[in-house]
Amino acid sequence: MLNIRYEKTTAPKELPAADNPLKFGTIFTDHMFLMDYEEGKGWHDARIVPYGPISLEPSAMVFHYGQEMFEGLKAYKTEDGRTLLFRPNKNAERANNSNKRLCIPTIPEEDFAQAVKAMVKMDERWIPTKPGTSLYIRPFVIATDPFLGVRPSNRYLFAVILSPVGAYYPEGLNPVKIWIEDEYVRAIKGGIGEAKTGGNYVASLASQVKAHEEGYSQVLWLDGKERKYIEEVGAMNIFFKINGKVLTPELNGSILPGVTRDSVISLCKHWNVPVEERRISVEELYEAGKDGSLEEVFGTGTAAVISPVGHLRFEDHVLMVGDGGIGEFSQKIYDTITGIQLGKVEDTLGWTVE
Ligand code: PMP
Repeated sequence: MLNIRYEKTTAPKELPAADNPLKFGTIFTDHMFLMDYEEGKGWHDARIVPYGPISLEPSAMVFHYGQEMFEGLKAYKTEDGRTLLFRPNKNAERANNSNKRLCIPTIPEEDFAQAVKAMVKMDERWIPTKPGTSLYIRPFVIATDPFLGVRPSNRYLFAVILSPVGAYYPEGLNPVKIWIEDEYVRAIKGGIGEAKTGGNYVASLASQVKAHEEGYSQVLWLDGKERKYIEEVGAMNIFFKINGKVLTPELNGSILPGVTRDSVISLCKHWNVPVEERRISVEELYEAGKDGSLEEVFGTGTAAVISPVGHLRFEDHVLMVGDGGIGEFSQKIYDTITGIQLGKVEDTLGWTVE
């Protein structure tokens, strides 16, 4: 149990206006959680202080070798005024899996959860209430040792910041266009693909820029070795419904194990819908598109929960999914998960934490 020191802001900010679209990741709340790590002392000095710049030496290791980890989850306000987190224990667990891969000291899961809960409670007035809105929570750790040699840092900073975010799809689910990347790769087995760390995202930028220029909203990554098998999207895992079966690439070491992915698989099992985690090739996908057995494609992630895919492109081949509209199954999954998050659908799987 952390002994958190509180320093409340003396200048609370004005909340965003009711008509503010709350563009993702642009507005930050009044406070931030900070905690230091030093070799010998362990994690210490947990504190909630006014949100603001942090001071680091230019030699801090994170600036040079990218030793850092981050997480992303959300808090929701229910109609009856309760505040719910969605499966925060999964994020605490994934944070430590990332930490281990990145040689960052782990954070006890209960301390991670306590830090998140204390911050949400502190800045609760910032949780937006319009349909589809939420409070995005960004925990992260950075290496702070002022040292230019390549080795794991001896000092770290763990921080939690909060950002009110608008509805991903203000007008209801809207199918996206996906570019299947055949030039760059995001991650390879044995690399850092399954860790949530900046390096994976900087590796994706060139491809993302190219896809945007071509009019595509996100990139679908293939395996780094054979460039044949489907891995995941920029910030989402990917699912296919083929011949009544739900398919998603198996976790092979280079894919981020999404919390939403795990939730979709659990719901399928709960509903007795056949679901398979296995290797899926682009060829299999295009064959299913050709013979009419490809029913739905959707991405899963904290930001949008479910993103139906209406159109994919691989090299010069365009694949339209169904009639380009919203699949029945995608809609059902979306309604169920968002319903649980907002306390409107019974949480039979015990996913929310008040
Ligand atoms: N893959 C990547 C690369 C991501 O950044 C994310 C977003 N965290 C996901 C998948 C989906 O994960 P989650 O469902 O936990 O948000």
